[in-house]
Amino acid sequence: MGLLSVLVLLSVALACSEETYSREPLEGIILIVGDGMGLSMISQASLENGKPLNLERMPVVGLQKTSSESGSVTDSAAAITAMLSGHKTFNEWIGLDARGKPVQSLFEIAKEKSWGTAIISTSSVTHATPAGAFVHLKDRDKELTVAWQLALNPPDILIGGGRDFFLRCSVPPEQIPDKANTETMEVSREQDVPENTSDASGKEGDSANSTCPPTDGRAQTRRPLEHLKKTHSILVSYSSFMESSCDSLCDQGEPVERFIGLLARNHLPPVEASHKLEYRKDPASDMALDSEYQKQAREALPLHFRRAMEPSSRKDFLRIASLRSLRALQSKGRPYLMLIEGSQIDWGGHANRADYAISELMDLDETLGALLRELEGRNVLIVVTADHETGGHAILDGKPGRKQKTDFLSHGHSAEMVPVFARGPGAETFTGSYENTEIFHKLLAVIEASPAISH
Ligand SMILES: [Zn+2]
Repeated sequence: MGLLSVLVLLSVALACSEETYSREPLEGIILIVGDGMGLSMISQASLENGKPLNLERMPVVGLQKTSSESGSVTDSAAAITAMLSGHKTFNEWIGLDARGKPVQSLFEIAKEKSWGTAIISTSSVTHATPAGAFVHLKDRDKELTVAWQLALNPPDILIGGGRDFFLRCSVPPEQIPDKANTETMEVSREQDVPENTSDASGKEGDSANSTCPPTDGRAQTRRPLEHLKKTHSILVSYSSFMESSCDSLCDQGEPVERFIGLLARNHLPPVEASHKLEYRKDPASDMALDSEYQKQAREALPLHFRRAMEPSSRKDFLRIASLRSLRALQSKGRPYLMLIEGSQIDWGGHANRADYAISELMDLDETLGALLRELEGRNVLIVVTADHETGGHAILDGKPGRKQKTDFLSHGHSAEMVPVFARGPGAETFTGSYENTEIFHKLLAVIEASPAISH
């Protein structure tokens, strides 16, 4: 075979192996984070799957270094802050630089540019990773404050768990002098709550403010959800969401562009019911015993609450929520930025339960597969990565296509680099190894290369 024909064959092979994208017009960016998803867990999923994962179809691969200001080992809060704002910060801090100054996130930049925004998570949406898109806070565990910040500066679409935080009466941060970004006061549990004075119209929620009591007679408490109701369609029933026949996000059968789905009281359940949510660092867990809260919540959303049964396991939620959100964003005809988090891979790692982590990883991979099918040939940048590895997971023995023998070194996070997979316009910039803050700069460059939206 002559040199020329070899070259021709080579270039044909290259053209076939890579989809080509033009930078303009960019339709959108989807950042997918597998929380705690290290390379060893991905390897286990691939080996046990017996065929390549959807992740392995991504043409570009890189490595990110995940250290935080606290040290080599990051937590999710510092990691998502690095990826979305370009600033290393301390563990537990969200959306602040290392001096404690709020820093603008990619989502806030995108929103300013009139892009559509969506956040989808399998944990409470108030958990560190989903919160990283819009929240600025020194303590990730202050989830009522997170709920308020999300309510006051919401994305177009927010789907996950965390209903309790949005229904609880608390003082909005803006009403607390000097502490606007750091504190939210909760209604004291012992305090007398006035009788419900809701109107008799039956239209849920409109009068719910009246059931929130004042604190110390000075600040009026409210529910974050009340604020969101003014601008977004709200759904709190997991079964209603999953049973909907809408291709996109719908309210009473009609497609909507702005949608809040708080489909579990706190976190959504695992993919397989056998994996109990053992790892729950969760100040809201005692809410189940708080009958006053239950009474208030029922008064706030009487119609919704009748159907808001807690799901015991989760099947296809992430795929369905991601596809519907994508279609809702596409229908606006403007660019969009999405964050999709597979939250519970991390919890499998913390619990040293590889089966839990792998079932959650496969759920995320199926979501990616559905997005790749939906977006074939489209000018959408998809980046899939982790915020850190969890558990020091390793594969010790096994045969491809069979269950692997694995072990863990710890119940915490580890400092190893994590892989970055990319496809679409700008994907080529994700090769090589770099700090997690570079994710921000690479995504920002793609956003800035996209033409401004004319109104
Ligand atoms: Zn994490």
